[in-house]
Amino acid sequence: AASITLDGIGKRYPDGTEAVRGLSLHVDAGELVVLIGPSGCGKSTVLRMINRLIEPTAGRIMLGDSDVTRVDPVKLRRQIGYVIQNVGLFPHQTVAANVATVPRLLGWSTDRARGRVAELLELVGLDPAQFGRRYPHELSGGQRQRVGVARALAADPVVLLMDEPFSAVDPIVRTRLQEEFLRLQAEVRKTIVLVTHDLDEAVRLGDRIAVLSEGGRLEQYDQPAVLLGD
Ligand code: ADP
Ligand code: ADP
Repeated sequence: AASITLDGIGKRYPDGTEAVRGLSLHVDAGELVVLIGPSGCGKSTVLRMINRLIEPTAGRIMLGDSDVTRVDPVKLRRQIGYVIQNVGLFPHQTVAANVATVPRLLGWSTDRARGRVAELLELVGLDPAQFGRRYPHELSGGQRQRVGVARALAADPVVLLMDEPFSAVDPIVRTRLQEEFLRLQAEVRKTIVLVTHDLDEAVRLGDRIAVLSEGGRLEQYDQPAVLLGD
């Protein structure tokens, strides 16, 4: 795992929208930080800047000791796993093929990729023999979400970015997924930044919670117990 440092980052979109202004935040290696705040406050923009889907217009982002703008994009893809709401699985590929996306991009041998896929599906609680050959539409919402997590873990990233990973599933499944996810995190210990607008989820999952307001302003940054005033 590697730490993440946001150093005065800002994003002005081409249309002039200032989504984020001067945000600084440090995430320790192996820590799970939750970004919470109202819709439109810039949470997704922050995640997309960290994995360089979009470029910051101000400031600097460090992954461990490296400025992300200086890391080769292919290498960065491997170092950062990304999980989004509704997962974005390829509908015409099987579960196994979806999970193998990054390993194949990296040119792993078929055997190595296959072994890794089986291991990952086991890790997220899906029997590879049963689920590997299915297509995304043959899964429940919760199962699709697990496949999304498995795919993000496929190249053994040092960092996981998760944008509302559990919000597309019903509340009962969500609670179960959150619990399993915490067990998984105890095992794999990634540095994680997770975006949500659900305070219960933030409190349940976060080692620390960053409360953002409009323009990505950092209002509070603390452990859940401190934020709740215990
Ligand atoms: P959140 O994830 O907290 O809901 P976003 O990061 O998606 O917030 O959006 C922050 C602000 O930036 C919003 O005002 C949104 O409308 C705006 N925004 C997001 N993407 C774009 C874009 N591609 N072009 C212009 N404005 C955008
Ligand atoms: P949940 O209530 O957990 O969201 P669903 O009611 O969607 O799940 O599905 C229940 C079970 O049936 C799941 O194990 C799922 O994998 C399986 N299933 C759903 N659709 C299909 C399908 N088209 N083919 C095979 N199995 C399916």
